[in-house]
Amino acid sequence: MGILVPEEYGGAEADYLSYALAIEELARVDAGTAVTVSVHSMICSAILRLGTSEQKERWLPQLAASDMIAGFALTESDAGSDAAALRATAKRRNGGYVVNGRKQWCTSGSYAGVIMGMFRTGDAGSRGVSAFLIEPNLPGISVERVTEKLGIHTSNTCDLAFDGVQIGADALLGEEGAGFGNAMKALTAGRIGIAAQSIGILAACLDESVKFAKERTAFGKPIGAFEGVSFKIAQMAMDLDAARLLNYRAAALADAGQDFGLAASKAKLFASTAARKHAAEALQIHGGYGYTTEFAVERHYRDAKITEIYEGTSEIQQVIIARSLLGRLD
Ligand SMILES: Cc1cc2nc3c(=O)[nH]c(=O)nc-3n(C[C@H](O)[C@H](O)[C@H](O)COP(=O)(O)OP(=O)(O)OC[C@H]3O[C@@H](n4cnc5c(N)ncnc54)[C@H](O)[C@@H]3O)c2cc1C
Repeated sequence: MGILVPEEYGGAEADYLSYALAIEELARVDAGTAVTVSVHSMICSAILRLGTSEQKERWLPQLAASDMIAGFALTESDAGSDAAALRATAKRRNGGYVVNGRKQWCTSGSYAGVIMGMFRTGDAGSRGVSAFLIEPNLPGISVERVTEKLGIHTSNTCDLAFDGVQIGADALLGEEGAGFGNAMKALTAGRIGIAAQSIGILAACLDESVKFAKERTAFGKPIGAFEGVSFKIAQMAMDLDAARLLNYRAAALADAGQDFGLAASKAKLFASTAARKHAAEALQIHGGYGYTTEFAVERHYRDAKITEIYEGTSEIQQVIIARSLLGRLD
């Protein structure tokens, strides 16, 4: 849980490449656990980048030691891809802020010990948003709904209600009004984690497809002897390598302190598309068994889909990539 956290705060002080490998290996077994760690790590990084020394000392040792999980609260019912449309507010009062509003689909929200939440402190638009570190057990915060989902069942997803929550000025993370940009930076780093999650799912699909194609026989042969099956596996292996190389490049750029946003978008888009596509192929290779809960491919198939949606949908990644080439034409 402290993979990106410096040793002085009890973390592993590892780099982004190590982080990508760790998330990948977790997702190979369980994608829900992988996203829990990925979101948690994204917030550890944001605290490291933006936090005051008091905030770092207060939160990082507990987060690195797994004494608490961190959650991320940006999305609202009418503000998803268009996150700058968020309406929940944090208004200055009594030397601190009073927080009101609703946040939707907060990963680990029911169990988190700290939430990085984005709230409106100023006018409409991206400049009026600030980031805060909030303890979810404060009076006025409640879990309004735990969301039932298609997959990643080991990851908690919930809606949080904030009703007149009094927080101190020391809860502000980064500068007032810089919260939208800071949330976007956190999500950019988070995309390396979601690409890694996709790669882990894809790697598991490949392992299970190879095993099954050797064991299962039809028409007197292992099904892997049929090109209809073996070519699917070849394609899966190639896309797995390509996804890894794209994501390791993004991680290496981040480790070198260079701009990695575009590389992370490409990695996330490619890896999540490949995970969704090949999870369906892995299920197909397993035939009827693949549709049953006896085989893990059924779970990978359900888990893979979310990677195309959260931390920037595939369409938003394409907007980012296209804009890097064309500029803003609208
Ligand atoms: C399981 C789960 C966990 C989540 N965890 C978190 C979390 O921890 N914290 C958090 O804050 N949020 C979280 N989210 C929210 C997630 O990040 C959003 O669902 C996602 O950003 C998309 O927003 P939306 O669902 O409102 O879709 P919308 O933004 O309404 O998009 C609907 C469709 O329109 C497309 N679209 C929108 N704008 C454009 C555009 N400009 N160009 C082309 N297409 C476009 C989208 O790609 C999509 O296909 C989670 C969601 C889920 C389902």
